[in-house]
Amino acid sequence: MRREHHAARLTRSRPGAAPGPALLAVLLAVVLLTLTAVPSGADGEPTVTSSTGGEAALSSGAGGDAYDAKGGGGFREAAARAVRAHEKAREKVERLRKSDARRAKVDAAERRRKAIRSRLWNLLRAAERGAGDPVAVDASGRDGHCPVRRRGHSLRHRTGGSWTAPTRGYWLSAGYAARGTRWAHRHTGQDFAVPTRTPVRAVGPGTVRATTCGDGFGNQVVVRHRDGYFTQYAHLSRIDVRVGDRVSPGTRLGLSGATGNVTGPHLHFEVRITPYIGSAVAPLPWLRRKDVRLTK
Ligand SMILES: [Zn+2]
Repeated sequence: MRREHHAARLTRSRPGAAPGPALLAVLLAVVLLTLTAVPSGADGEPTVTSSTGGEAALSSGAGGDAYDAKGGGGFREAAARAVRAHEKAREKVERLRKSDARRAKVDAAERRRKAIRSRLWNLLRAAERGAGDPVAVDASGRDGHCPVRRRGHSLRHRTGGSWTAPTRGYWLSAGYAARGTRWAHRHTGQDFAVPTRTPVRAVGPGTVRATTCGDGFGNQVVVRHRDGYFTQYAHLSRIDVRVGDRVSPGTRLGLSGATGNVTGPHLHFEVRITPYIGSAVAPLPWLRRKDVRLTK
């Protein structure tokens, strides 16, 4: 798969450039390869295509919990539609798998789901880069000087284990899609009210995709899970992981806090289809599907 890596690097290094016909052909081949060759069980990140849509029209956004209110325009609605379409497509795949449908039928439904996700991914990546989403701009957190753990400090990583709540001793405050003065639109995650410096833990196995600091989400960590979904943990007082770290259920990602756009200490937790803002799904039903029961 050297060509795939090469193509991905080419497009990443020239985000604003229009791809030439040869590159488009390579990309198309890569997309087709990716769609047909993804092993079942693992859900790889889609090939990033350079997109010209959306960037110029966006105002710069800052805001964490207020993000969903800013940088308005058509792409937010397009993203919301794609999120709903993706969740319907995922439910269809699960239904077909449960009913022992023909392999070809399941594969076709899964290809459709992944195509929706790839389109959403590219839409949000282009738009959020323009809007200043720290995950899209600098997922490593280096530019934001994140207070990450020292090198050499080892994570307690174990394999196996069941999915877990992102923190303990909480009460559930603002829920997903809640309306409130902090969000001119809708709340994109679930808030867990906890005192500052409460351990915040990975809900399931995965890899740290982003650590960013200094915007409305304060200090945040984004974890990529094997099923293709991402979880986000925001407003932390400290980050204990680095991009690329492998985590298991219960691995400590950092400590809760009140950084960013908040009125008090809490953990803001999101489940997303992509690493980017604008692709969140309802987090509590998602956790329930992983057999995580939360106390109210
Ligand atoms: Zn929140």
